[in-house]
Amino acid sequence: MRKIDDLSFEELIEEILKTGEPKFKASQIFDWIHKKTVDNFDEMSNVSQKTKAKLKDEFEFAKADILLKLASKLDDTKKYVIKFEDGNIVESVYLKYKFGNTACISSQVGCKMGCYFCASTKKGYIRNLSTAEMLRQIYLIQKDTKEKISNVVIMGSGEPLENFDNVIKFLHIINDERGQNISLRKITLSTCGIVPYIYKLADLNLPITLAISLHASNQEKREQIMPIAKKYKLPDLLKACDYYVETTGRRLTFEYILIEGFNDSTEDAENLSKLLKGKLANVNLIPCNYIKEADIKPSSDSDIMKFKKILADKGINATLRRELGSDINAACGQLRNDLLKM
Ligand code: SAH
Repeated sequence: MRKIDDLSFEELIEEILKTGEPKFKASQIFDWIHKKTVDNFDEMSNVSQKTKAKLKDEFEFAKADILLKLASKLDDTKKYVIKFEDGNIVESVYLKYKFGNTACISSQVGCKMGCYFCASTKKGYIRNLSTAEMLRQIYLIQKDTKEKISNVVIMGSGEPLENFDNVIKFLHIINDERGQNISLRKITLSTCGIVPYIYKLADLNLPITLAISLHASNQEKREQIMPIAKKYKLPDLLKACDYYVETTGRRLTFEYILIEGFNDSTEDAENLSKLLKGKLANVNLIPCNYIKEADIKPSSDSDIMKFKKILADKGINATLRRELGSDINAACGQLRNDLLKM
């Protein structure tokens, strides 16, 4: 059956009109689903039984429940294991930053990208998440924490640009002022670099922040840790990035995980500076996080600082990502679609 929480406001109006109900009911129902974030028809107290019955004939809600919640002892981070109707699970994370409460959401169950350092891909790809399943992650986190989410990062498991249509619709609905009204400027989408979709996204001209998982400063090293680099070569990726900046006027973020002895040398930093020279971009340095399947260690603090300084000296803006929730495997690259013993 079709899911009512997959519909944008415009689609909901169409569906309401089709059932012979007046248009204004769409506003009431949208408010219940995306502002009050109910997950059933029965709670819609100002909607008549007759209307509800018509809707129930055609639609149901995407089911999603919190299966498990883990709270970090180191900081305010919470990790949620969320289970969908078909039994598949994803992980979502709540992060409390000074600039706002952030939800890190997953876009796919598993991932087919195969990055060496990332836990999300180790069991392969299962399926795309629907728009409603992405929205529900945020609604569940808000209900549980009793806090309003102001920022969203699409950096959980999955490659969002491989689930393009559902992700774009998610952005549209989460931004709708009749629903959560989360500013697109407070949303970051992270991709490993699916070149054709970077062009497609650029042409939509949305004021989101695009983050590119770069992680290496040359083609050879990138290929060693990211299989997708073989398909979309570095010069083509950077060309797509330039197009993105020209089209949207938005600054890009390049994510660069620092792996000890692999991509953290002076030469790597210098190569990276050359690669990004003159671009409207920030580099986000991320000391790599532990996962059991990969033989990687984060660079030492002194090497990280040295790396950052080289970038700064060459005029490249770089920030260090403060890792939250690492004690509950909630940090970047540690999210999975199965339950591991903690
Ligand atoms: N598929 C998307 C989004 C998910 S990953 C992408 O590739 O960007 C979100 C970020 O976490 C990416 O930058 C990813 O490269 C990074 N990441 C993955 N594994 C990591 C690890 N072990 N340590 C630190 N960051 C990691």
